Amino acid sequence: MRAIWSWFKTKCWDRYWLAYRAEDSSLTGGVNVWFQWTGYKKMANWTYFTDDEVKGLDTELVAMLDRARGLAGVPFVITCGLRTQEQNDALPESVKDSAHLSGNAVDLACADSTTRFAMLRGLILAGFTRIGVYQNHLHADNSVTLPQKVCWYAQGT
Ligand SMILES: [Zn+2]
Repeated sequence: MRAIWSWFKTKCWDRYWLAYRAEDSSLTGGVNVWFQWTGYKKMANWTYFTDDEVKGLDTELVAMLDRARGLAGVPFVITCGLRTQEQNDALPESVKDSAHLSGNAVDLACADSTTRFAMLRGLILAGFTRIGVYQNHLHADNSVTLPQKVCWYAQGT
């Protein structure tokens, strides 16, 4: 059972959402099923991201991110992409000239060391030269005006 579940996660995680329902037969009218189809994530322009997920982001940034995701082999969940000036000002740890303002940056959920290693490897191999490591996310951007070949660590989520 675990082997099947891990196969599904590896093969289908980014394209299909499958939920493990072995314990909860109330959702299937009393019939116990291992997996229940919970919807389809439609890909249009990118291998790993829907157009909605990357809305407002720089096309070259998304192309790099798509490559990085493939190289990393782990899900990339974008927790923050394009920010308005007001949204950026409201964040306590944001910088005034954030690459998020121009759609040239993403924050990716990341909370454990194995995932962090895989994601960092993917990002660097895909050509990212600006990466921030935070407690629960990684920041990556393709700004050409901010300092290059930098990886910073910052407190905060
Ligand atoms: Zn960020």
